[in-house]
Amino acid sequence: MSSNESLANLLREERRFAPPAELAATANVTGDAYEKAAGDRLGFWAEQARRLDWAVEPTETLDWSNPPFAKWFADGRLNVAYNCVDRHVEAGRGDRVALHFEGEPGDSRSITYAELQEEVARAANALTELGVEAGDRVAIYLPMIPEAAVAMLACARIGAPHSVVFGGFSADALATRIQDADAKVVITADGGWRRGKPGALKPAVDEALTRPGTEGVRHVLVVRRTAQEVEWTEGRDLWWHEVTGRQSATHTAQPFPAEHPLFILYTSGTTGKPKGILHTSGGYLTQAAYTHHAVFDLKPESDVYWCTADIGWVTGHSYIVYGPLANGATQVMYEGTPDTPHQGRFWEIVQKYGVTILYTAPTAIRTFMKWGDEIPARYDLSSLRVLGSVGEPINPEAWVWYREKIGAGRTPVVDTWWQTETGSVMISPLPGVTETKPGSAQRALPGISATVVDDNGAEVPNGSGGYLVVTEPWPSMLRTIWGDEQRYLDTYWSRFARRATDADGGETRVPLYFAGDGAKKDEDGDIWLLGRVDDVMLVSGHNISTTEVESALVSHPKVAEAAVVGATDATTGQAICAFVILRGAAADEGDALVAELRDHVGRTLGPIAKPKRIMTVAELPKTRSGKIMRRLLRDVAENRALGDVTTLTDSTVMELIQAKLPSAP
Ligand code: ATP
Ligand code: MG
Repeated sequence: MSSNESLANLLREERRFAPPAELAATANVTGDAYEKAAGDRLGFWAEQARRLDWAVEPTETLDWSNPPFAKWFADGRLNVAYNCVDRHVEAGRGDRVALHFEGEPGDSRSITYAELQEEVARAANALTELGVEAGDRVAIYLPMIPEAAVAMLACARIGAPHSVVFGGFSADALATRIQDADAKVVITADGGWRRGKPGALKPAVDEALTRPGTEGVRHVLVVRRTAQEVEWTEGRDLWWHEVTGRQSATHTAQPFPAEHPLFILYTSGTTGKPKGILHTSGGYLTQAAYTHHAVFDLKPESDVYWCTADIGWVTGHSYIVYGPLANGATQVMYEGTPDTPHQGRFWEIVQKYGVTILYTAPTAIRTFMKWGDEIPARYDLSSLRVLGSVGEPINPEAWVWYREKIGAGRTPVVDTWWQTETGSVMISPLPGVTETKPGSAQRALPGISATVVDDNGAEVPNGSGGYLVVTEPWPSMLRTIWGDEQRYLDTYWSRFARRATDADGGETRVPLYFAGDGAKKDEDGDIWLLGRVDDVMLVSGHNISTTEVESALVSHPKVAEAAVVGATDATTGQAICAFVILRGAAADEGDALVAELRDHVGRTLGPIAKPKRIMTVAELPKTRSGKIMRRLLRDVAENRALGDVTTLTDSTVMELIQAKLPSAP
């Protein structure tokens, strides 16, 4: 934000939803957890760490003697894969299904915990045969198939940090990630199914490995998924099924220190160059498991959980692999897109497996709204009991639609705020406790301290906006940016600090974690995310949130999706420029609707928030994880050459938008 004035607080949302009585009565976590954790934060996390099986129990919880470098449970030792797989089998739950895999072409297979244990053991033995040792990095570039989870767990089991690269990324993106982490092995597939066709993956690996800086890769393990032709480099390339097939199905897991690196994951790249976020073992798994238990109210004996994220994003790491498996959950894993072979595919899957907990993203919810209410209405969704959202602020209209049309007006919606950097959910309602507010993530979870501060780092009063900060270290926090400590300090820890007294009674400054997101506290102190700080608009001296203007536009019945940016303006500093996708029939009205939409925003938020320009478009530029890339729209609105488009799903979208420009003032 570029002025001393805090974020304007324009949106009014009065709808409230109490937790269902039955859920509240049997909820995993009750309201007293907040006070308990606030009274003894470290004791609270020490207790949560006991959800895990430690080979050596930790005696110290947090070492924060050298902030912002944290050590959690540092003298404890554990094996992450053992915690996610073996211990469930040892406890007699080997017959429980871990993964119901649903391939896009309709093939399916269910894998029990006992079967998963064997697969992980074979894969761990295979990696060892290939010379992978604890500390070596392994790049994973796979579609959404069970082998992706098996590969991650096999790496965890032998202490080799993995770096999962989203299967939709190009050879370039893959090469830079292999170089940055200096990977020794790449695990990939011939391809995966997407939109009814086999998409290829292996050629991108072959191309990436021609680039300088990737010479460290000794082997490429290739899963056969689509059976398409692949090029083969003798000696380097090996079939996954051949190498794992000849291994023993048992493997003794060796414990590692709690701070042993578990994985590197590059952020989505919504704002610029992706950062290699490093996560470690004990603290990460503690918070992933606790939050999955608390936020989704998981009952492992009876729930069927489905997170629709890709394993290439942090959501897939924490809420498909590590959190749910540590908790012994039964879950669905789906390979493909929501509209293949038809737009009801997700709901068909919910019905088929009796999914009880669904976790998806606002971009998907807005797409389902656009496709029409009649599609989910054709399926039996009555098994659902908790709905989650992650990735972007969810517009109140999309939130209410999700609850009503998917959750039959009964299920709580948990809007979960977190980041690749935070490793696990940080701010979210609790489904059996919180009276929810559409569009608000509401409150930091028990054991987490987050708030909103002004330019000087002072906490803002209720009813005001500013910057979201985390004020105390948390177990699943990033430990650094891989190979770039200075960037870690500069990006997250240099902006805000609080005064404290050190051991000798002197005054010191303790850094606060700056998340990069704008937020406000409402009159009750609940937190509303307002978009990235870099995206906040400054109009005639007022800071205005992109999220609030977008939500106002989406609340108009004819608008399906909206993206808003501030463009330099001679009179107002910045002018609000909106790009909207219209719903179904309204698309024909096109530009005639513009005046109506401007008035609608003016009525909803006030005259200051009226967009100066509104362009109707067919698509918005999005990252591969479905987030709107406002910086590219700002380039368009300011008639600049486009910035980096490499993390964009479809670069032709920008050409279509630019082609519309001549009609703009
Ligand atoms: P980069 O950091 O490279 O620009 P990114 O921030 O999109 O990419 P992620 O770590 O995947 O990468 O996303 C975290 C961000 O997503 C948050 O900082 C926030 O802006 C947004 N976000 C995630 N969940 C929510 C939510 N529930 N409400 C609002 N914003 C959210
Ligand atoms: Mg980010």
